[in-house]
Amino acid sequence: MKSQLLDGKNLAARLRQKMKEQVGKMQPKPGLGVVLVGDNPASKVYVEGKIRACEDVGIVSKKILLGKDASESEVIAAVEEMNQDKQVHGFIVQLPLPEQIDEHLIIDSILSFKDADGFSAVNVGNMFMGRGVLLPATPKGIIRLLLDAQIPLKGKRAVVLGRSNIVGKPISFLLQQQDCTVTMCHSKTENLKNITKEADILVVAIGKPRFVTKDMVKKGAVVVDVGMHRLEDGTLCGDVDFEKVKKKCSWITPVPGGVGPMTIAMLLENSIECFYLQNR
Ligand code: NAP
Repeated sequence: MKSQLLDGKNLAARLRQKMKEQVGKMQPKPGLGVVLVGDNPASKVYVEGKIRACEDVGIVSKKILLGKDASESEVIAAVEEMNQDKQVHGFIVQLPLPEQIDEHLIIDSILSFKDADGFSAVNVGNMFMGRGVLLPATPKGIIRLLLDAQIPLKGKRAVVLGRSNIVGKPISFLLQQQDCTVTMCHSKTENLKNITKEADILVVAIGKPRFVTKDMVKKGAVVVDVGMHRLEDGTLCGDVDFEKVKKKCSWITPVPGGVGPMTIAMLLENSIECFYLQNR
């Protein structure tokens, strides 16, 4: 079976072009802030990517960098600065935070209408009540990718591997909102393969390189790979054994070029949404 690519790079480029035109007509320009704490190399790369994406579509960016030994009160002060800054309409605190910082406390300090990542309790609550405006970027991007490819979702069996707050939990809910019947799996799930083999839509977000193999996937399934890993030889791969699994499924996201670019596009979209929440 020959699978088709769920091309996140292509869709993200189309969405970014539209946003560029939209932002070109906006005055003042929307602003996105980023707070980065510590020197995690992957986080630095992600933050630079987000800032470049902002510049590309004309969104103004502001960065606050704090050292790895920053105290909780210093991080809260940075959040407060972003909360008060009129030029910053939405902002994110790049995760993970150093271990001395309570992640929940920091996320709870972000004003909900400036919460561009959609991680705050208010925005998560709104999402679960089906009235979410600021949805978390990665799951929002996955749904957009599936809808853009016109993949039938209604009544389909979806299986999600991983139950993180930023991907697994929200994508399970958003798939259910699209009328999928959803099963969530995690590290304690028994007989995992029996469950994944039933999936019409399989979303994998576990952080284990090439964990999902061909024998775990139903013929004709749609496979969405959220994982992102740099191997020792420098190549990138996801949580799915792409080369083998692609021969069995109907659609599959590549890594890179699948979910990653959609996450950034949705963050930009959320920044524009934050602007409108404050300028209606
Ligand atoms: P995470 O916080 O790393 O948690 C991993 C989840 O996978 C946990 O729920 C864990 O279960 C589950 N898990 C671990 N081993 C498993 C196994 N053998 N079988 C079934 N489930 C298992 O998850 P995350 O933050 O969502 O990240 C997952 C991956 O996605 C990472 O590679 C990350 O870099 C990537 N990511 C990419 C993007 C993007 O935009 N491309 C965005 C976010 C994340 P327990 O709860 O039982 O521990």
